[in-house]
Amino acid sequence: MLGGMGRIRFCASCGARLPRNASPRRLYCDDVCRAHAYRDRKKAAQDFVLGLMLAEAEWNGDRGIIRLLTCPTCGTITFAGGDRRSDAIYCGGTCRSRAWRQRAARRARRSA
Ligand SMILES: [Zn+2]
Ligand SMILES: [Zn+2]
Repeated sequence: MLGGMGRIRFCASCGARLPRNASPRRLYCDDVCRAHAYRDRKKAAQDFVLGLMLAEAEWNGDRGIIRLLTCPTCGTITFAGGDRRSDAIYCGGTCRSRAWRQRAARRARRSA
């Protein structure tokens, strides 16, 4: 039957095949996939804004902002949703503990 293939549609979030009888307006398998897609969109928008802020800070040479927006260890854009805890400047536990070890090594050299 012609046009039959056109009816096969896939979830816009996980890529699973949607049921053949799914309404033409349906984009996702279920609410879980819809929530995932929403979160991804929000995250993409946030990353975009952070990228713009960082570009501007680099242009202005604003080291404070650059420090706030990037991981001091590896340079990845971070800034976990405005979390102001001092350790939130790192992209993750690996970089945080690496920085901690570096600080500890410097302290040890100084006191030696
Ligand atoms: Zn899905
Ligand atoms: Zn890092």
